[in-house]
Amino acid sequence: MREYLKFYIDGQWVDPAEGLKTLDVENPATEEVCGKIAMGSAADVDKAAKAARKAFASWSQTSREERLEVLGRILAEYQKRFGDLATAVTEEMGAPASLAQRAQVPIGMAHLATTAEILKTFKFEEDRGPTMIVKEPIGVCGFITPWNWPLNQIVCKVAPAIATGCTMVLKPSEVAPFSGHIFAEIMHAAGVPAGVFNLVHGDGPNVGAAISSHPEVDMVSFTGSTRAGIEVAKAAAPTVKRVAQELGGKSPNIVLDDDAFAKGVARGVATMMTNSGQSCNAPTRMLVPQKRMDEAIAVARETASGITVGDPNGNSQLGPVVNKTQFDKIQKLIQAGIDEGATLVTGGVGRPEGLDKGYFVKPTVFANVKNDMTIAREEIFGPVLSILGYESVDEAVRVGNDTEYGLAAYVQSADLEKARGIARQLRAGQVSINGAGGDMTAPFGGYKMSGNGREWGDYAFHEFLETKAILGYAPKEAAE
Ligand code: NAD
Repeated sequence: MREYLKFYIDGQWVDPAEGLKTLDVENPATEEVCGKIAMGSAADVDKAAKAARKAFASWSQTSREERLEVLGRILAEYQKRFGDLATAVTEEMGAPASLAQRAQVPIGMAHLATTAEILKTFKFEEDRGPTMIVKEPIGVCGFITPWNWPLNQIVCKVAPAIATGCTMVLKPSEVAPFSGHIFAEIMHAAGVPAGVFNLVHGDGPNVGAAISSHPEVDMVSFTGSTRAGIEVAKAAAPTVKRVAQELGGKSPNIVLDDDAFAKGVARGVATMMTNSGQSCNAPTRMLVPQKRMDEAIAVARETASGITVGDPNGNSQLGPVVNKTQFDKIQKLIQAGIDEGATLVTGGVGRPEGLDKGYFVKPTVFANVKNDMTIAREEIFGPVLSILGYESVDEAVRVGNDTEYGLAAYVQSADLEKARGIARQLRAGQVSINGAGGDMTAPFGGYKMSGNGREWGDYAFHEFLETKAILGYAPKEAAE
């Protein structure tokens, strides 16, 4: 039973400003309470933002070498806590232990390592003759993060913010707050100077909103639903702060009519189901040539029905979804797919056989889905795949782009030239050809209602930097 009842502000573990109110955190695999956190208020955010402002004065003036050293120490402490972090992620959101150890925790580590590499050579200045352009840290950053990849969504913000000389206030998801809390312990153990990193637990309407609107917060970087992202931007507007939004998705996966078809379909199903479909960039809409629909159904059925669901601490490939709210929402959407006339290939409503406790969902595949059906339009955030048929590649691209989202897209083909052409036509921030992934320096972010701004790699640095042009920096003659 974890008890995380303090916040991390100005280098100290402190009590909530307005007395202790707690929130139970449930393990979604057992439906049992596995810990609790203190819930913060605007008063805690105010303390944290002021501490971050105070620390900014000196932290923003540190050298590249000093920040590299701090990043190195954070990475070393993170490695020491690897096991704790993996256990926490599994407990708080149900990721299978293997996924936590293979991806959820290592990706955070990779962000720290990649950020340090980039920092070594990142150009903070551009000498343009008489004019000097300097990139300066934007100031105090507010971070609001989701539960689905709870740890790396934090680290991919914190690492570049540290690298660029910013200070910060983090609010992890109240649904999955454990790994974020351990991360604060890591920052403390790494000796990050007081006030540079602050953590306040709490919910969106109180703590999240207070971060978004706080006048001492210069930018807010939000990852979560499009609904909450809009609220954050509205709350941030009166103080004209920069807002980076990493929001939802309904990503198309276009499988072409060639020799890579069966492999492409199988890969699409497996990628879709990873993390129980709780990934913003999950390839939720698979587009296949209508004439090969039956073949796609056969491959998808075989792949999906072979996926094991169960105890995340066992050998299962899929754990539960995060909580009852999500479970109920997913069940409703599966029912909507059936009611609206999609072909249920495998899975369906109800828990998988033998799993009476825990928010387990059957890996579900629908075929003959039309793009105006609810399951093709709404972000389900569960292990539910829609397969749509197309008559021509042009139609596939058009339907692929026919969504309010634009986070990710996928193309599967034996013909690389063709795949490249399609990738260029898809309106999404990241397109993966034939399962390519794992480039930690590739920018990540959305078109359209999937957000704005880019995370990861050197693009993330720019989120946390202001640009200043100093005219007359060098005498005109000297530049001539
Ligand atoms: P959510 O929007 O419910 O919550 C995300 C965070 O926002 C939480 O910390 C929550 O407390 C906070 N929040 C909620 N309402 C708020 C408000 N009014 N003001 C300020 N903060 C508020 O999202 P979730 O359910 O935790 O995560 C799932 C969503 O996140 C999905 O839509 C998914 O696509 C998206 N997501 C996007 C990315 C990306 O990089 N684009 C990555 C992961 C998840």
